[in-house]
Amino acid sequence: MTGFNTQAVHAGQHKDPHTGAVVPPIYQTSTFIQDGINVLRSGHEYSRGSNPTRDGFQDQLTALEGGAAGFAFASGIAAEDALLRAVLEPGDHIILGADGYGGTNRLISKLHSKWGITSSAVDITNLDSVRAAVQPNTALLWVETPSNPLLGIADLAGWAAIAREQGALLVVDNTFATPYLQRPLDFGAHAVVHSTTKYIGGHSDVLGGAVIVADHLFRGQSLAEAVGYQQFAGGAVAGPQDSYLAARGLKTLGLRMERHCATASTLARWLDAQPEVTRVYYPGLENHPGHELAARQQHGFGGIVSVALKDEASARAFAESMEYFQLSVSLGGVESLVCYPREMTHASLIGTELEIPANLVRLSVGIEEVEDLIADLQRGLAAARAASKPVVTRVREKTLENA
Ligand SMILES: *Cc1c(COP(=O)(O)O)cnc(C)c1O
Repeated sequence: MTGFNTQAVHAGQHKDPHTGAVVPPIYQTSTFIQDGINVLRSGHEYSRGSNPTRDGFQDQLTALEGGAAGFAFASGIAAEDALLRAVLEPGDHIILGADGYGGTNRLISKLHSKWGITSSAVDITNLDSVRAAVQPNTALLWVETPSNPLLGIADLAGWAAIAREQGALLVVDNTFATPYLQRPLDFGAHAVVHSTTKYIGGHSDVLGGAVIVADHLFRGQSLAEAVGYQQFAGGAVAGPQDSYLAARGLKTLGLRMERHCATASTLARWLDAQPEVTRVYYPGLENHPGHELAARQQHGFGGIVSVALKDEASARAFAESMEYFQLSVSLGGVESLVCYPREMTHASLIGTELEIPANLVRLSVGIEEVEDLIADLQRGLAAARAASKPVVTRVREKTLENA
């Protein structure tokens, strides 16, 4: 089989037959001239149904995930929504990994619930709890691994076995791992979803999402037909410019992921040795509970590192005081980002049992020089030290006052 980086560069990228342009042109058009009524020159009719630039990106990503078909959407959430609406019926139940993207939970609990969809949150690392959550009407299992923001690792083959026993679908959000590190369809998943906004686009300059499906029949219809029809009839498609940017990013995914993984691993080890840090969440560390599973299931541990600091005040100060780790939501770009998940990406979970701890900070490690990033983290930790008020210090101050 052709290697990953070769496929990333060539799959779906049809050279321009008219000019010989090495990079396929961006087909910035809404409609296509017909040679007679319904006589389509190249199979394209209207860009909601199909567009060559979108098709090229879909084929490229489908090849890398090892799927039967792929569909690109205007955002990751639009992709998730389309998949759910394509396969679910009112009254269905979803098993949802508890430690996942907050917006996925919101989509299901706030929007899909109106159509009679229910869900149960489970610990993704505990297959017994997944099996125990299965109900007669469970139609779909949804898991994200590594998870967001705690970097838990789910056993994909184990999840797939439970889905098969139940005749349900297993959907894996592969945004964090990307097909370079992990191919969920190889473990028995039926569909993969991506926020291509993150590592696939890779440069923080485009929003997008994708669904890649296996060759699988569900409720008498192939997944490719169901999702393809939903994409056309629902209409939340990726536009030509966005498809082009995502395809361009995808060509260098392998190179970027190598760098993200190497730097994140160095930073995780360094952070683990700092007194201000009470815990580092990174599957590449031997003390991570999912380390061995991740080593078997992934070809690298990824570019996201979460850290727990002593308390809320030090976590906030850390997140707000760095230069290269810019404070913002999102992840997976060439530039490093820092986020305070409790009140940023996962704010919709506050007050629920899934709320994120107040001392947690998530780092998306970019491709800058590792020495510069360590210097930046040192700045952050100095701010964290200044912000936290250890009890010992207060006691000593009191003693001095009394003296
Ligand atoms: C960002 C993200 C999403 C949502 O994607 P959008 O492109 O923001 O709509 C879904 N899942 C994960 C894991 C994400 O990080």
